[in-house]
Amino acid sequence: MIPFNKPSIVGRELAYMQAAVETGKISGNGVFTGQCHHFFEQHFGFYKSLLTHSGTGALEMAALLLNIQPGDEVIMPTYTFVSTANAFLLRGAHIVFVDSAPDHPNMDVHAIEPLITERTKCIVVMHYGGYAVDMQVVLDLSVRYRLFIIEDAAHGIGARYNGLPLGSIGHLAAFSFHETKNVQCGEGGMLVVNDERFSHRAEVVWEKGTNRAAFARKETDTYHWIDIGSSFLPSELTAAYLLGQTEHFESICLRRRAIWEQYSANLQFGPANSWFTLLPETPGSVHNHHIVAIICRSASERESLIRHLDSLGIMAVSHYRCLHDSPYYKGRHDGRKLSNAKHFEDCLLRLPIYHDLTEAQVEEITKAIYSFYSRKS
Ligand SMILES: *Cc1c(COP(=O)(O)O)cnc(C)c1O
Repeated sequence: MIPFNKPSIVGRELAYMQAAVETGKISGNGVFTGQCHHFFEQHFGFYKSLLTHSGTGALEMAALLLNIQPGDEVIMPTYTFVSTANAFLLRGAHIVFVDSAPDHPNMDVHAIEPLITERTKCIVVMHYGGYAVDMQVVLDLSVRYRLFIIEDAAHGIGARYNGLPLGSIGHLAAFSFHETKNVQCGEGGMLVVNDERFSHRAEVVWEKGTNRAAFARKETDTYHWIDIGSSFLPSELTAAYLLGQTEHFESICLRRRAIWEQYSANLQFGPANSWFTLLPETPGSVHNHHIVAIICRSASERESLIRHLDSLGIMAVSHYRCLHDSPYYKGRHDGRKLSNAKHFEDCLLRLPIYHDLTEAQVEEITKAIYSFYSRKS
């Protein structure tokens, strides 16, 4: 069976976990956490990064830092992971969902402006598959309407927009290091602070509303409860594993790129490619080969293709169900039809991509797709 995803050990993950145990400190904010922060800040120029136990946790920190209150409106794509929305709903926000672009799962940035009201507090963008949202349009709205911008960059480590790393553009950004992401530690994430006004408070919220991080740096003699917060830190075991991955960041990127390019060369078959389409590039974007996705012609065709691949031992999977008409949110949505996103919900299919996937396996997968379509048409 070729699984959809498989987390790989690429370097010293296990040795570092053992070293963490041997230091006698495995709770959060130790040496390994510090080294991870250093890596991300140096490598991507983030003003400040804070590891979290999950990407979800990083999004929750962002909502806390923006002081989201009941009744505030938050604009975000409907085609995204539940945590993008939950983080703000937990603070009492009302979510205003935006459709995808016609040809890309990313949100249609031109549909945002009519949705802005007096109560709008922020816009959350999600860079699908590491393909950048057109941030210039979003930043212009941010300035004109005085809105905060949060990047859900969970897919986007290493990807760029007009030369800037994803996650360095919004006021705050969230990354995920879940085992399905390019760089991973099982469960993990990171809040990135790009606006220094949030920097001090981010550390406090991270450490249960206390100034314990400053205390650990010996900036104060005792530590106190000074604000609201929660426990967002990962253990040093997690940070140690993650550090092992960061040391091989370049080779992780190169391996994924090779796999992605092999797929995209192989998937050029079909009469002028009328069988399915590949995700198009987005303006200004250099993506990070996080996802290999094809857009099938219909939901039923996608289901047959999934079954065909499964019968050959290949696991391919659909992706998000639109949040605006989910069982939880349906009754709260304002009724706008978000039909582009529904199209991706129905027709988008993700193929296996992970560090240890071999060239021969990519051949096998693309042949299986070819056999499905050539038999059908
Ligand atoms: C993976 C992911 C997250 C965060 O997931 P965690 O499992 O909490 O790390 C958030 N948003 C998107 C779009 C994701 O894909």
